[in-house]
Amino acid sequence: MNLWDMNTIKGVLSRHGFHFSKSLGQNFLINPDVCPHMAAECRADGGGVLEIGPGLGILTVELAKRAAKVVTVELDKRLLPVLEETLAGFSNIKIILDDILKTDLKRLIETEFPGQEIAVCANLPYYITSPVIMRLLEERLPIHSITVMVQKEAAQRFCAQPGSRSCGAVSAAVRYFAEPEILFQVGRENFHPQPNVDSTVIRLNVLKEPPVHIDDEKDFFRVVKAAFGQRRKTILNSLSSGLAFQRETIALALERAGIAPNARAEQLTMEQLAALSNELSSENE
Ligand code: SAM
Repeated sequence: MNLWDMNTIKGVLSRHGFHFSKSLGQNFLINPDVCPHMAAECRADGGGVLEIGPGLGILTVELAKRAAKVVTVELDKRLLPVLEETLAGFSNIKIILDDILKTDLKRLIETEFPGQEIAVCANLPYYITSPVIMRLLEERLPIHSITVMVQKEAAQRFCAQPGSRSCGAVSAAVRYFAEPEILFQVGRENFHPQPNVDSTVIRLNVLKEPPVHIDDEKDFFRVVKAAFGQRRKTILNSLSSGLAFQRETIALALERAGIAPNARAEQLTMEQLAALSNELSSENE
């Protein structure tokens, strides 16, 4: 079945009386080249893949051609009969009806892919991009890479280098867990219905060890959040209003970490953010 052909798509959807839900981010890909390209980039050949939001199954099919097993989690139960039709003929795909934000991912991976490190591949619903990506990274699951299509602007944030203008709290958080890469661009015309944003496919190559030494991870993420919380302020001012430390304590920690008090968070490297967080952690002891 040609799932990128508009007549086929319309036929399948009308047979099942399906109507798109904007609130679930249902913009389905209709370009035949995008999914094979994503499937090739997600490093799943012969292994296991977790997909999020299969929609009509256009990416699922490409993943199933390459991987040993694909588990795909879809929230919209109206898509189940559609997927049963479009994925018929593949014996290595399992569909799970659930909200990916509520799924017990550790258990799912242990049950479906015992003893394996898997790939994640998805054209993500954009309303949950950051929470999904941060969950996948923070829970330290047996995942080697996360290849996802996200809104173009979000891709720039996820992949920004600390120390560069576009760096934000999420860029630093992602770099703590993974090495991000921009893979390719996908314009809005490649979807039905057409969204009003363009997309980018990125891959997060999950690191075995963090790139910097952190004494206390909770402190590190608190510092990152406070530092980037008020981007136009100096680092001294944003940390003073965002953290429960005296201004003098923060000034001293900045000095010890070798950071000028009038620097902006976006100018700091991962090493400087780590040094600052470790200095502040030692104040808590
Ligand atoms: N993979 C398909 C494609 O590329 O054409 C569909 C992608 S569409 C952008 C996002 C999909 O995620 C939809 O099928 C939507 O129903 C599903 N979805 C939305 N929220 C979800 C959630 N919380 N958990 C799981 N799936 C979700």
